[in-house]
Amino acid sequence: MPLMTGEQYVESLRKLNLNVYMFGEKIENVVDHPTIRPSLNSVKMTYDLAQMSEYEDLMTTISNLTGEKINRFTNLHQNTDDLIKKVKMLRLCGQKTAACFQRCVGMDAFNAEYSTTFEIDKTYGTSYHQRFKEFIKFVQENDLTVDGAMTDPKGDRGLSPSKQADPDLYLHVVERRDDGVIVRGAKAHQTGITNSHEVLVMPTMAMRPEDKDYAISFSIPTDTKGITIIMGRQSCDTRKMEEGADIDVGNKNFGGHEALVVFDDVFVPNERIFLNGETEYAGMLVERFAGYHRQSYGGCKVGVGDVLIGAAALAAEYNGAAKATHIKDKLIEMTHLNETLYACGIACSAEGHETESGNYIIDLLLANVCKQNVTRFPYEIARLAEDIAGGLMVTMPSEKDFRSKEVGHYVEKYLVGVSSVSTENRMRVLRLIENITLGTAAVGYRTESMHGAGSPQAQRIMIARQGNLPHKKKLAKAIARIK
Ligand code: SF4
Ligand code: FE
Repeated sequence: MPLMTGEQYVESLRKLNLNVYMFGEKIENVVDHPTIRPSLNSVKMTYDLAQMSEYEDLMTTISNLTGEKINRFTNLHQNTDDLIKKVKMLRLCGQKTAACFQRCVGMDAFNAEYSTTFEIDKTYGTSYHQRFKEFIKFVQENDLTVDGAMTDPKGDRGLSPSKQADPDLYLHVVERRDDGVIVRGAKAHQTGITNSHEVLVMPTMAMRPEDKDYAISFSIPTDTKGITIIMGRQSCDTRKMEEGADIDVGNKNFGGHEALVVFDDVFVPNERIFLNGETEYAGMLVERFAGYHRQSYGGCKVGVGDVLIGAAALAAEYNGAAKATHIKDKLIEMTHLNETLYACGIACSAEGHETESGNYIIDLLLANVCKQNVTRFPYEIARLAEDIAGGLMVTMPSEKDFRSKEVGHYVEKYLVGVSSVSTENRMRVLRLIENITLGTAAVGYRTESMHGAGSPQAQRIMIARQGNLPHKKKLAKAIARIK
């Protein structure tokens, strides 16, 4: 079954026996939980769109390993065209969900693992690459969603993994057996974990020889014994649990989620281990994964930005301000910023190159520039959206008041804008802007723009490393005729 339908995907998740906690309680039915389901729907969109002929070229491709048609989210990029299509696919998914659709972390991990395992094997004669190929074939053949897991809790940032007061603050091997290893630790901010079939764990940073037990990468099913998922909360999340919640949620059908994922003495079989103690390759894996994910943001955030710009334009239309020149100019500025992010995503893809293993990687400098811009522009786009929306976005009465027999007619009467648009539609669009800038989707659009795929300083380190200052100095010397 190389391509699952959205419904088949949902049913496949029902078969998982996940250990999930939220608001201090164990969740028995994860799939239908009102605060989790919208995030599941976002991932489901990656399956639904792949079934539609108009998106076939963007959402699907042919596997280089099996020759079968696969979802692009399980693809190993074969050329720069694949890299560009990936960015376009993520923009499309962002437009259709106005949220984080989570499946990209796995795709980015596949591509980083594929090339890195090849290079480890070349040095050490290990068989990680072959193992990884078997794993990725299994993923492609079953059209799985895999959650790439990189970020450890990290404890004291001034200490290396093995020097922490609590050794579990970075995920590590606690026991080595003939048939595999036992690991302990946690991964934080784990995007989409309950909507994933597998979790693909990678180290969180470059490692020194003494951190050998921390240089571990593997994939296991998300319902493996010993894994506990503790859901993160989001601003306004309980609105989703209110009876009949609709307008106030802003984006009723879609969302994203993050969680703290604890690995408490979890067994990993040998055939699923892709890095085990080769500390000098941890940095390569991190750098490549981060590079791919920084490229991703030039697609997904742009798609959500498209929705936000559209919502701001509607809000202006609904209150009669659309013709004002300063409103038009703000919409132009928002578009300019959004398309600049897209340009970076496309540019780092077009400038990609082949790795030794044969898959393609983005231009790392440009991917880091892309993400550095993402740490800034969505904030400015959100600021302008709030400017256009007006204060009503955060002072508006609730949907229950709007529906109330006693005061509903007042809300209807006094919150109207232009007379041709209903108060209800005005409320809907303002709640959508609130959702993306301050509500549940703000996790994905704002703070994730800052910290997801690495905080701004991580990109600046890469920009310093890739910027090639000596070459630039040489250029200046030549022009200035300095010997
Ligand atoms: Fe995908 Fe963007 Fe979410 Fe990362 S933040 S998983 S790239 S949608
Ligand atoms: Fe992310």
